[in-house]
Amino acid sequence: MVPRIGLTTSPTALEGRPVEALERVFVDAIDGVGAVPVILPVLDPARARSVVEGLDGMLFSGGGDVHPSWYNSLPSPHLGTVDPPRDAWEIALARAGVARGLPMMGICRGAQVINVALGGSLVQHLPDVTDLAHCVKEECSRPVHTVRIEGGSRLRTVVGTEVLGVNSLHHQAVAEVGDGLASVAWADDGTVEAVEGLARNRIFGVQWHPELMTASPGHGELFQWLAEESATSAKALASAPAATAAA
Ligand code: MN
Repeated sequence: MVPRIGLTTSPTALEGRPVEALERVFVDAIDGVGAVPVILPVLDPARARSVVEGLDGMLFSGGGDVHPSWYNSLPSPHLGTVDPPRDAWEIALARAGVARGLPMMGICRGAQVINVALGGSLVQHLPDVTDLAHCVKEECSRPVHTVRIEGGSRLRTVVGTEVLGVNSLHHQAVAEVGDGLASVAWADDGTVEAVEGLARNRIFGVQWHPELMTASPGHGELFQWLAEESATSAKALASAPAATAAA
């Protein structure tokens, strides 16, 4: 069964007219592991549950900052661009995905969205708390720092190594970890670089950009994992009505 993986988008404008933008690398990464990329526009959060019912997995893409009111904090002077309708939509989508038990991966902002949706908080501006460079745009497809991945974590199994070189294009990071998540990878300065779902929650949130490094060992595997888990999810959901009918 070919899984359908929803991809969140960044509202922007083209020639003055609104568009939903998504870097092509996300589409290629999902297409490249045999899944169908389903591009999701920002909608009314009330639609989240029905949208999730048409999907087998979700990938939360990158973008601007989550408004700190979502984690009961006041905006830092260094807060970047925020998009309240996108926040509300993606947070509803993440919660609906968890409720349905869908496999989900969040990348950069996507990891932050999932964490906040589950009650976690964020560091609003890393340069205020660390000297390690986490926003190196000149080297977006090459490792600029390493992360250490917790032994025994699901991420360690999927990535296959304890120390992974990663690119880094973020100025925020996970602070308090959301319910049902655990932090499982850190940079040398202690910055949380990845969270994963506990027990049966098939969730990864990574602060780096594996979609820009799919050819490097340990990065493409994350998309492979998402496709495999989504295929399993598709099969389970397809057999659910039959099981209900038999009961
Ligand atoms: Mn980093």
